Parts: sequence; structure tokens; C-alpha cells
Amino acid sequence: MQTAQKIAVVGSGLVGTLLAIYLKKLGHTVHVYDRSPDIRNVEFSGRSINLVMSKRGWKTLEDIGLDEEIRNIGIPVDKRGIHLQDGSYITQNYGKEGEAIFSLSRGILNRKMIDLAEKSGVKFFFNQKIWDVTLSSATLHVGETERGEWTEIKFDKVFGADGAFSRIRHRMQRQSMFDYSQEFMKIGYKELHIPANPDGTHKIDKNSLHIWPRGEFMLMGLSNLDGSFTCTLFMPFEGENSFEQLQDEKSLVAFFATYFPDTVAVIPDLVEDFFKNPTSYLVKMKCYPWTYKDKLALIGDAAHAIVPFYGQGMNAGFEDITILNDLIGQYGDDWQMIFTEYEKSRKPNADAIAELAERNFNEMSAKTADENFLLQKKIEKWFSDKYPEKWLPLYSRVTFSLQPYAEALAIGEYQNQIMQEVLKIENIAEIWDSQFVENKILDLIK
Ligand SMILES: Cc1cc2nc3c(=O)[nH]c(=O)nc-3n(C[C@H](O)[C@H](O)[C@H](O)COP(=O)(O)OP(=O)(O)OC[C@H]3O[C@@H](n4cnc5c(N)ncnc54)[C@H](O)[C@@H]3O)c2cc1C
Repeated sequence: MQTAQKIAVVGSGLVGTLLAIYLKKLGHTVHVYDRSPDIRNVEFSGRSINLVMSKRGWKTLEDIGLDEEIRNIGIPVDKRGIHLQDGSYITQNYGKEGEAIFSLSRGILNRKMIDLAEKSGVKFFFNQKIWDVTLSSATLHVGETERGEWTEIKFDKVFGADGAFSRIRHRMQRQSMFDYSQEFMKIGYKELHIPANPDGTHKIDKNSLHIWPRGEFMLMGLSNLDGSFTCTLFMPFEGENSFEQLQDEKSLVAFFATYFPDTVAVIPDLVEDFFKNPTSYLVKMKCYPWTYKDKLALIGDAAHAIVPFYGQGMNAGFEDITILNDLIGQYGDDWQMIFTEYEKSRKPNADAIAELAERNFNEMSAKTADENFLLQKKIEKWFSDKYPEKWLPLYSRVTFSLQPYAEALAIGEYQNQIMQEVLKIENIAEIWDSQFVENKILDLIK
């Protein structure tokens, strides 16, 4: 057990709230500050962005006994449902029999976690904007406006879980030797909606993550508990087939009729949703260090914001908590050691998942429609089923295992080289599951 401390967590998002529960269980006094109103009092239809939870996220919830409660508000998704441009539909299992990622509504999940945190004794302070932090004394500066009066609140420790545009990180950036980079993607996104059938059932298979891969752009759909789907259109802001070109009803309807004809029947409010919903930006951010002495640490998106194409941002943030908690178990009251080891161990893994996530846009939007890629996946699955101890596909390493992301990335690259060799075999499409191919892979692995 650690000596009780007074700890502030800035940000009541998914990562901040779960971290607060962990810290409270360790016996600390935990105060969570958020500039936004309490999400439990904000009306939303349950349609807001959904996310997928996979092994790493579940592990953090399991360790504190919250997994069952959260599983009840999710939908298992065990495959990709790929809607090809020629109208055909194929499915591709994500992992082995029984392995699934879970589709969860971000809003419902966040509300639930704040309830659970409050029940465990965490105190929340909403509508409280943190403008600055004094690093050396872990003092927060809270106020209505940036130029107005601020109140100072001193803590023993501060965690910055205030997201990609973290104000806490902003203060750290003003120190020498602090590395920081931020990049906005040329691709943005917009949410659309597939409503439920009148009897509350889903219009398309709820246990698939639906993708309409179209090369430079794609549409994605994830099921909600109320029978609806939240779809996300990812597309460049400018150029051919871009948001810039879809300025009026006529061009929008023509675009969907050309590229996503099978959605016309299931997205009845396309025009209204498209012009009402914002076009959102995607940002990636890297920084280092993540901690200041034994006083302050960044966690979640505040430390590593990545693009969403591997469904790992929140999972990686939850894994930060698992690692931090392990280190607390190891080093007790030595917070300096805990923080140093935390940033050292997490940084390479955060960089690796950032890289994997970016590469995955191409995999989802283009490769899932590519015959060679589909064949590669088929061979990998077949070989992995035969030799599970010799071959775990990259997607499974990232999604269904706890292997550090950096290792998964390195092994994934090695496996991909082997697969490129295998794909060069003559008639590979016909003999992909032959003894010859099996021996070839076994040889190459050596
Ligand atoms: C389109 C999209 C899809 C995604 N899909 C997935 C997915 O499938 N799986 C997955 O794992 N991840 C996914 N992610 C990533 C995931 O949403 C984030 O990684 C995760 O929400 C980060 O949580 P966080 O708590 O660190 O930050 P946030 O959720 O950003 O929370 C930060 C909190 O801090 C508060 N705050 C900010 N500044 C201040 C301040 N100055 N004072 C007080 N409070 C402040 C904010 O109000 C907010 O409540 C997706 C992201 C996007 C954009």
C-alpha cells in the first residue's frame, strides 16, 4: 500500500476516470477536474462516436473488476464485413473462433465510468477549466476565463488526462528539452447514422465492423445497442472525392449512389445528417518526457494522440494505467522511480501504435478491397491455425494479445516480408493451402 496522497486528475474522459478509480482504490484522495459539464447531464441520443475495446482495454478493466459491467453495454464484433465497389460483400474474421472486439458508445461508457468512480469515492469537479499548473508544487490554476481570475489548488501529484490538446502538457512544453510534434491529417471524418428497424433490430449484421473501402476514402459502420449503427465517413478535405466537393445535396446524393449504393436504403437521413454534423479533424501528437519529477504525469491522449484506424487510442491509454499500476506495486512510495519507469516503458510502445494506426488507414481503405491482400490474410490465418505457436498475425498481436506494441510492430514487419515471398509463388491463389506453401513458410521462418 502507498502512503495516501492528495491527487488531481485533469480530465474526466475515459482514461482520466479509470485512472481515478485505480488511484482511489490505492487509498488516495482523488479529485477529477473537467472543463466540460457532467456528461451524465448532457442529452445525447446514444448515437455519439462508438469505439472498440480490445484485449488491452479489457485487461485494465478486469484488474479492477469492472469488465463484466462494461461488457454488458457492448456488442461483440468478430469480423470485418467488407462492402466492395462491385456490390459484393465478404467477411473476414478478426481472430480465432470466439475472439471479438467490442463496440461501445463512447458517451454511455464515459457516463458509466464516472458513476463507478463516484461510487468508489472519487470526487468530480465539472465546469472547472484548468488553465495552468505549477510543476514544482503540483498546483492547479482554475478559472472561468484565460484572462480572468484564477484560483490555486495545491496537490501532492497531478495527472494530465486532458486529451490531445492538453493544457497540462502545454506548461511542460515551455521547459527546455521537451520534445513535441503535432500534425493534422489531410483526412477528416463525418458521422452518419443507420437507424434501427421498427422492431429495434439492426438493419445489417451487428457483429461485423462494416467497411466500404474505396481507396483514398472509406465508410465504416459500428453497431449500437439501440439497433442503430454509427457510420463514419473518412475522406480527404480537399481534392478528388473530398469533403470540399460535397457542398450540396445533388453532389452528395450522386456521390453516395456511385460509391456506396447499398447504403442508400439504410441511411435515410443522409442529406440532413451530412450537412448538420460537423466535419471533424484528426490529429496526431507525440511528446517527451511525459512526467515532471515525482509531481506530475501525462497519460492517455495527453501523452500520445494517434489516428483512430487501429481502434487503439483508448486501449493504449488504458494500458498506460495497467503499466503505471504495476510500477506502483513494484516501487511503492518511490514516485520518482514509478514515473521514470512509466515514461521509459510506454514511450516506444506509444510510438509503435501511432505508426501501426497510421498504416492501418491504407489497410482498411484500400487493401481490404485488394485480392492479394485478402489472399495474404487467408494464408496467414490458415498457417496460424496450424501452427499457433509459430505465427500470430499482426492484427491479433495488437488486438487480442498484451504483447508490447513495439514488439508487435517489429514481428509484424518480419512476417510481412515472409508473406511477400510466399505471394510470389507461382499459382499461389490455387495452391495457397498446400503442403508446398506450408513447407515454404516453415523454411522462411527459420
Ligand atoms: C473518430 C475516432 C474514433 C476512435 N475510435 C477508437 C476505438 O475504436 N478504440 C479506441 O481504443 N480508441 C478510439 N479512439 C481514440 C479514443 O477516443 C481516445 O484515445 C480516448 O478517448 C482518449 O481518452 P482520454 O481520456 O485520454 O482523452 P479525452 O477523451 O480527450 O478526454 C479529455 C478530457 O479532458 C477534459 N479537458 C481538456 N482540457 C481541459 C482543461 N484545460 N481543464 C479541464 N478539463 C479539460 C476534456 O473536457 C475531456 O473530458 C477514437 C478516436 C476518434 C477521434
